[in-house]
Amino acid sequence: MTKYIVVAGGVMSGVGKGVTTASIGKILQEHGYKVTAIKIDPYINYDAGTLRPTEHGEVWVTDDGGEIDQDLGTYERFLNIDIPKSNNITTGQIYKTVIDKERRGEYLGQTVQFIPHIPDEIKRRIKEAGNNYDFVLIEVGGTIGDYENIPFLFALKSLERDIGKQNLVYILITYLPIPSHIEEMKTKPTQQAIRLLSESGILPDFIICRAKKPLDVIRKKKIETYANIMSDHVISEPDIETVYQIPLDLEKEKLGDKLVKELGVKTKKQPNWQEWKMLVDHILNPKKIIKVAIVGKYIDIGDYNLADSYISINQALIHAGAQLNLGVEINWLDSKMFENDKKSLHELKNYDGIIVPGGFGASGVEGKINAINYARINKIPYLGLCYGLQLAVVEFARNVCSLKDAHTTEVNQKTSAPVIDVQPPQREVLEKSMYGGTMRLGAYAAILKEKTHILKLYEETGRLEEDSKRINELMRDKSQAFRLGILDKGKKIVLERHRHRYEVNPKFVDLLEKKGLVFSGYYERFDKTKLMECIELPKNGFFLSTQSHPEFKSRLGNPSPIFYGFVRACSKYKN
Ligand code: GLN
Repeated sequence: MTKYIVVAGGVMSGVGKGVTTASIGKILQEHGYKVTAIKIDPYINYDAGTLRPTEHGEVWVTDDGGEIDQDLGTYERFLNIDIPKSNNITTGQIYKTVIDKERRGEYLGQTVQFIPHIPDEIKRRIKEAGNNYDFVLIEVGGTIGDYENIPFLFALKSLERDIGKQNLVYILITYLPIPSHIEEMKTKPTQQAIRLLSESGILPDFIICRAKKPLDVIRKKKIETYANIMSDHVISEPDIETVYQIPLDLEKEKLGDKLVKELGVKTKKQPNWQEWKMLVDHILNPKKIIKVAIVGKYIDIGDYNLADSYISINQALIHAGAQLNLGVEINWLDSKMFENDKKSLHELKNYDGIIVPGGFGASGVEGKINAINYARINKIPYLGLCYGLQLAVVEFARNVCSLKDAHTTEVNQKTSAPVIDVQPPQREVLEKSMYGGTMRLGAYAAILKEKTHILKLYEETGRLEEDSKRINELMRDKSQAFRLGILDKGKKIVLERHRHRYEVNPKFVDLLEKKGLVFSGYYERFDKTKLMECIELPKNGFFLSTQSHPEFKSRLGNPSPIFYGFVRACSKYKN
């Protein structure tokens, strides 16, 4: 019987519900269980694809092409599993499904109502996601007391009745503030969150208390009495330096043992935290620190925390660093500063590596191209991600192939050398569709050429083997198989996730190759057209770019091969 763990947050948002949910999942995995996680987002948007990244954080892309809330990314980074888009449930999706069914006549004769139809659809989605798993974590987005998550709490209560309380546990995550004028930790907001949750008929089985410091006995007692729960079910989760410490901290409170006991199962395996601890230790006390510049467009951000709109790149660098015992200091440089004042490019001399991340539109593009040129000429390790590949091709076309006017048609539609352009099949999609859903999204296979830098990295890190297993899995699903394209059995094939509209223009590939640019990986569509996936400059040390976003497949303990290679190259360069 699948067991469910519902995680809801009280008091306020931003207390780390996602990382705590992921940490609980990691703990259960260490206890030998097969775990997955669901994120409920109570907004009306169908998915996160059309949300503004600078407001909402980066859009996460799944293998099956979902544009999802970042929390699914957090789960993948902790759990080292691929989570499908259906594990992100939004209010918009639930209502759309119910209304579509109604239009198809599936409820013929019935009045379609909030109860039971909406909770029933929510439960159906949750149960489906739980198939073949021992544990399902369900994180309820928003804060208890929001109007928006009431339907979901109602559905979860109803799920509890369907499957029995012995199979479902509620965890409330709260925050205990310490107002600076009194320097005392306050439990009142937590008490009120408990009361608000009880209005939906839910009494928490565990309360995880986020705070600056660990809870003292007095505060724990207060919460126990108020919530009427077992004394050792009040768990302290103080602030930490890296989120990857959280599973270790929660295990100090024996959360894993307590959870499996509460749900009436036995630990399947003695947890072994040795490797995880080592990686955390590398993050906290690396033997050496490298400096990386991420050259992007950072406009209209206001007070927003910039790093959040590139959280996956940030994390991918941390994962690679943890594996190599290297700390990565990241600096976000606005590409606009490299636009007019060429001297400012010398600033890049202070870095051990340069990344141009994904991006859209014309803003800051010339600055990015100048930065790539600087990296290429000075042989500073360079990693281009999606737009970073496209602009590296533009740079090479202009400065090595003498196509002075070369550009991407995303920025200049009239260029005489459209080295990056929309390809016919994608143009069809663009012409037919509205704005949403016009991108090439999700995992696509790249066939890697022999003797290339990129192939070596995928071999050395074990990802080549891992991906061939994953491809076999995906091939069982027809729609996924189509996405993978033509897979030549004898070839070395890897999977990475994509989110883009433009491609390297096949008409220029021969010329670029003749001048020394190596196209080290390609994708082959069923109509036999090839799309270029990766480029490298073998003589440049590390100069590698990919059309995909390998940062979406980076996990602690299983870093992205490309980021691993890049961070290692940065360290070598520093020496
Ligand atoms: N704007 C480019 C495209 O749509 C790159 C997108 C990206 O970097 N994710 O192809």
